[in-house]
Amino acid sequence: MQQINQIYINGQFVTPHGDELFDLFNPTTAEPFGQVRLADEQDALEAIRAAKQAFPEFSHTTKATRIDYLKRMHAAVVSVETELTEAIIKEYGAPTTRAVWMARHAANVFLEMAQVLQDYEFTQSIGIAEVTLQPLGVAGLITPWNSNAGFICGKLAAALAAGCTAVIKPSEMSALQTSIVTRALHQAGLPAGVFNIVTGRGETVGAVLSTHPDIAKVSFTGSTAVGKHILRAGAETLKRITLELGGKSPVLILDDADFNTAIPIALQAGFMNSGQACIAGTRILVPEHRLAEVEALVIKEAATIRAGAPQDPNTRVGPMVSLKQWQRVQRYIQFGLEEGAHLLVGGPGLPDGIEAGWFVKPTVFSRVTNQMTIAREEIFGPVLSIITYKDEAEALAIANDTPYGLQAYILTSNAPKAHMLAARIDAGRVLINTLAHEPRAPFGGFKQSGIGREYGSFGLQAFLEPKSVLA
Ligand code: NAP
Ligand code: MG
Repeated sequence: MQQINQIYINGQFVTPHGDELFDLFNPTTAEPFGQVRLADEQDALEAIRAAKQAFPEFSHTTKATRIDYLKRMHAAVVSVETELTEAIIKEYGAPTTRAVWMARHAANVFLEMAQVLQDYEFTQSIGIAEVTLQPLGVAGLITPWNSNAGFICGKLAAALAAGCTAVIKPSEMSALQTSIVTRALHQAGLPAGVFNIVTGRGETVGAVLSTHPDIAKVSFTGSTAVGKHILRAGAETLKRITLELGGKSPVLILDDADFNTAIPIALQAGFMNSGQACIAGTRILVPEHRLAEVEALVIKEAATIRAGAPQDPNTRVGPMVSLKQWQRVQRYIQFGLEEGAHLLVGGPGLPDGIEAGWFVKPTVFSRVTNQMTIAREEIFGPVLSIITYKDEAEALAIANDTPYGLQAYILTSNAPKAHMLAARIDAGRVLINTLAHEPRAPFGGFKQSGIGREYGSFGLQAFLEPKSVLA
């Protein structure tokens, strides 16, 4: 059994004051493989103290110094890429190609932010004012388990680029990834206290970060429920808060699209990251008069989408991260059946031929209405809904009829029409005929998908406050 017994405070690996042991599971087998000793409130306070002490000097470092740090952090994470990939497979169950991408992404975000920082002007003249963007202070960075290493590195890159110092509270379910990333980042040799990594529970360490007066900024990725809680908790000290929350992203397939290419893209958008993705395209909107054709193509395409061991190169959908998540997804499949949706592919229980692990059958419901629970709530598993529309006005109305607004997809051969629709969809990102990511463009949600943006200069600015000096 692997034991993870250390957290990282003030440039040192220390044994947490907290003594709770948390079991780590391999979701592919449902067997425990180790334990992590969790930090508590006292550890969180020490980490905040260290970050506060490091802030005055770090906030006055030059752009060139911070670019150098970001490059060193990039190189450090690159050096553990293989180990990190293996940890992602073992602890999270991401299919190998996805895990490789995730580990590389965790390193790349440092380089991408170094480039943003290079191009960013911290000072500008406005009338008689000299306006300077100044780092906010100590940032609390809270990450989920569905891309833990990537979120740690992405949030840290932006915070440090801005000149903030940080306390990171990663998901305890991702402690193995966190320990590898921490070891690597220590090798980058930044000044002590500039970043601190404290694995512990949300209700303890997370609660300290979202209430402590010395935390100026919280950047959180996770569920909408916890996001709202953090916003309320931070109100007392008026924290600046960035929230990256859930989604229920529509995939608009227009009548003019080539359905032979559109359907595979739609399923890829829905099943990405084993369905455990805030940006997953979970509501597939199709023209009513083409439903039979769509259903036939979905059945054909879904037959090629294998759920199974992440190490198998043919696997497209890995296990759910935890038993709790597996049960949650099963509950939603049950809702779909009870509320009268037509089960097209998949269904309850383990996929055929699999006897252990938290695997779900890649599932697609058809003839779903946008009022059904499976169309309204974020499932966070490989369960998709096909919803029909009569005309494009109705498609647009259904796309926007959701409390969320993180991402939307449009599949069409009519580019001008796609741009017209994109302008009318309430979502932070609209992807037209692509599943690509653009790290220099802002990312984040409209409505209850969040507040604020990450990535690029928008992500950097989220850690800055303007100051006008008039003379
Ligand atoms: P979560 O409960 O929102 O947790 C996300 C992070 O917040 C974890 O590190 C968590 O710590 C921490 N946290 C929990 N309660 C907190 C509190 N009161 N104060 C401060 N921090 C707190 O998400 P989850 O349990 O990992 O996943 C549940 C659902 O969230 C998923 O099913 C999915 O719908 C959604 N989700 C969305 C995204 C996204 O990218 N938008 C990512 C992951 C999950 P603990 O681990 O100790 O609870
Ligand atoms: Mg939770």
